Amino acid sequence: MNDLVRNDLAQYVRAIPDYPRKGIIFRDVTTLFCNASGFRRTVEAMAGAFRERGIDMVAGIDARGFILGGAIAVELGKGFVAVRKRGKLPAEVYREEYSLEYGVDEVEIHVDAVPAGSRVLLVDDLIATGGTAMAAVKLIERAGGTVPAAAFAIDLPDLGGAKGLRDKGVDVFSVLSFEGD
Ligand code: AMP
Repeated sequence: MNDLVRNDLAQYVRAIPDYPRKGIIFRDVTTLFCNASGFRRTVEAMAGAFRERGIDMVAGIDARGFILGGAIAVELGKGFVAVRKRGKLPAEVYREEYSLEYGVDEVEIHVDAVPAGSRVLLVDDLIATGGTAMAAVKLIERAGGTVPAAAFAIDLPDLGGAKGLRDKGVDVFSVLSFEGD
């Protein structure tokens, strides 16, 4: 994907200053998803980067990661596993606490969601500090899988999350990147 296409896609991401807290610029991907071509090209870029890479499953992080992750799983012809916020999954779960750019939260995964040894592609809309993604990696590993790669529509590189994941050996791909936080 060239810079022209990236700039085109970037214009569909709405920036909302001071949401949900003063000082945060919220990068709203709902406006990207509303655009048929923007959504399709984002999904195709994220899935395309991981074809022929031995991925067995796709994991999406609650909630915007479900929208992208589900579409990417279908594109890749793989199953989808949900990493959900606390209290939403009905069967036995593993749980991890994490801090994000604007708070603390917990995510869960079904203990039997990942067949042993599965190579899981982790998907979310955005990576900032990487706390959420790191908690998801831990959950997938506790469930018996590995996370060789992660894909995000947006990276906020100044917050260091993508670098942290790469330092842990995860191959990180993002379609768009915005300076600052
Ligand atoms: P982090 O754990 O800091 O990497 O934060 C990533 C998670 O929080 C993702 O699920 C994002 O949807 C959400 N998030 C964090 N910062 C932002 C932001 N500036 N704009 C939109 N979503 C964000």
